[in-house]
Amino acid sequence: MKKESSEDIEYNLTGSETDHPISATDATAPKSKWYKRIRKGITTDTADKKETPEGLWNKCPDCNFITTTQDLKENLFVCPKCNYHHRIGSDEYFETLFDNNEYEELCDNIRSIDFLHFTDLKPYQKRLDEIHAKTDLKDSMRIGVGKVNDELLVVACMDFQFIGGSLGSVMGEKFCRAIDYCIEHKLPFMCISKSGGARMMESAFSLMQLPKTSGKLSQLSDAQLPYISLLTDPTFGGISASFGMLGDLNIAEPGALIGFAGPRVIKETIKRDLPEGFQTSEFLLEHGFLDFIIDRKLLKDKIHQLILLFKG
Ligand SMILES: [Zn+2]
Repeated sequence: MKKESSEDIEYNLTGSETDHPISATDATAPKSKWYKRIRKGITTDTADKKETPEGLWNKCPDCNFITTTQDLKENLFVCPKCNYHHRIGSDEYFETLFDNNEYEELCDNIRSIDFLHFTDLKPYQKRLDEIHAKTDLKDSMRIGVGKVNDELLVVACMDFQFIGGSLGSVMGEKFCRAIDYCIEHKLPFMCISKSGGARMMESAFSLMQLPKTSGKLSQLSDAQLPYISLLTDPTFGGISASFGMLGDLNIAEPGALIGFAGPRVIKETIKRDLPEGFQTSEFLLEHGFLDFIIDRKLLKDKIHQLILLFKG
C-alpha cells in the first residue's frame, strides 16, 4: 500500500499519464493534474536562446549572495550581506579615495621590456603585449596625486590584473619616483598593495627592487614625511618582504590574505597543520604585524584623519 502511494507522487511530479482510476471519495487516490505538457522537452533552439549579458550580476565568493554589478559598485565592491571585500584595481581605489575622482597620474610613460628574453609558458614580451592590448594598464602599479577631503596625497596602487600585480623593475622605479615627488612637494605617501610577489620573468632585476624601494623609503623618513601602507587581498612575497611592511602605519582591509610564502609551502616545510585563519589580516593584527584593519567604506575618512594627525 505504501509503495503504491509513493509511486503516485512520482506520477504527479513527472506529469505522466496515469491509468489509475480517480475517485473523489478515496483519500489515497492521486489528485487530478493541474498542468498538462503538450510538447515534450526544450523546444527553443540554441540560436534563439537569450543570454544574460556578461558582468551584469555578481556572486559573492564567500556567502554566494547575488547582487547586480551596479549595486556592488555603489557599495564600493563590498558584499552588502557578509562584508566580503572584492578585489578591485587602481581605478576603483582612486575613485574611492580622491575627491570627485580628480587626480593627476605620474610617470605613466614607463613600460616593462623583456631585457632578459625570458620565456616560460610563452615569451615575456608576448605576455606584456597581450596585456597591453587587453587593458589600459602600462604596468602593475599606477601613481595618482589628488586630494582626499581637500588634503593632497600621493597614492601608489597595484593592479592584480597585470601579471598578478608582480613586482618588476617598472613598479620599483615608479614607487621611487612617487617618493621623489613626495619629497619635492612635501606630501604624504600611501601605497595600496595587491600582489603575488616578485615578477619571475625579470629574475634578479625584480629582487633588486627590494633594497631600492626600502632605501628610498628611508629618504622619505629623513624628510619627515609619513608613509601609509595599505595591504589588500592578496599581498605576498617580495611586497610583504619589503615596502609592504615598512609603513609608518601598516593597515589592511578585512579578510585580506597577507604573507610571504603561501600556506601550502609553509605546511610542507614545517610538517604541521596551520592555525585557523592563518595569514588573514585579522590573524596578523592579533600577532602585532598590523596597526589596524579598515573597512573600505571608512577608508577615505580614516586616511584624511591620519594625514591631519601626521601634520599636527
Ligand atoms: Zn558575501
